[in-house]
Amino acid sequence: MKITIVEGSGFCFGVQRAMEMIEKAYQEGKRFDTLGPIIHNPFVVKELEEKGIRAVESIDETEKSMIVIRTHGVPPSIYEEARKRGIELLDTTCPFVVNAQMAARKLVEEGYDPVLIVGKREHPEVIGILGHAWNKPIVVSSPDEVERMNLAGRRVGIISQTTMTFDLFASCVRAAMKTAKEVRVINTRCATTERRQKATMEVARKVDVMIVIGGRNSSNTKRLHEIASQFTRSYHIEHPDELKEEWFRNVEEVGVTAGASTPSWLIEAVVQKIRSFG
Ligand code: SF4
Repeated sequence: MKITIVEGSGFCFGVQRAMEMIEKAYQEGKRFDTLGPIIHNPFVVKELEEKGIRAVESIDETEKSMIVIRTHGVPPSIYEEARKRGIELLDTTCPFVVNAQMAARKLVEEGYDPVLIVGKREHPEVIGILGHAWNKPIVVSSPDEVERMNLAGRRVGIISQTTMTFDLFASCVRAAMKTAKEVRVINTRCATTERRQKATMEVARKVDVMIVIGGRNSSNTKRLHEIASQFTRSYHIEHPDELKEEWFRNVEEVGVTAGASTPSWLIEAVVQKIRSFG
């Protein structure tokens, strides 16, 4: 049985960087909690809990003197709150997210009005970006929403939540251009997610079965499973123990892909287990 692992599976650059920063600080003897779960993977969360690193909902909940800001970033009010309470921050905000925060701020400072963020209103990354731009931008999630706004004669700034698709971002820009006097676009997308989706699609097209690894509550993993299912038989698992031998009967080629919050040891364990089925 041939096994093809999708290129770029598992931790993205930002998550890998955050995990390394956390490990380094832990090895240096620092003790801390994380503000929200660091990633959507129950095994990684459990590993951290075993080291005494808890995911807390607010700064008030921690008893430690240090707290981790996760890759999604937070609004400046959280930095201020930590400072007032004397809590040190281990800031693992992904540099691509910092770029989006700075871009929104710059557009507001330069007088673009409205500044639009193409993204999901409730997403922690978007809440962080809004905070860095004095909560002035407006969050939009479809070109229809942009068309319903009164943009005639206005100078519009547009950025994107890092994980939005190119098509959605471009369609919102196009909608703004229909009436706005000026449209200033800063492309703040991170191509990692889309690249992984495309690579998954290419592998799924040619294999008999696809195994998608990642947390059940990880939206980027669920999306990979949806994509793979369009082309072949696909299974979404969190752990190698969920693999069933019958899935691989009469199978010549298996594809393996994993969401951005799946560690490489878990991908390797899944591949080993599939190999054991012959
Ligand atoms: S998906 Fe992109 S923006 Fe998000 S953490 Fe990973 S590298 Fe950073």
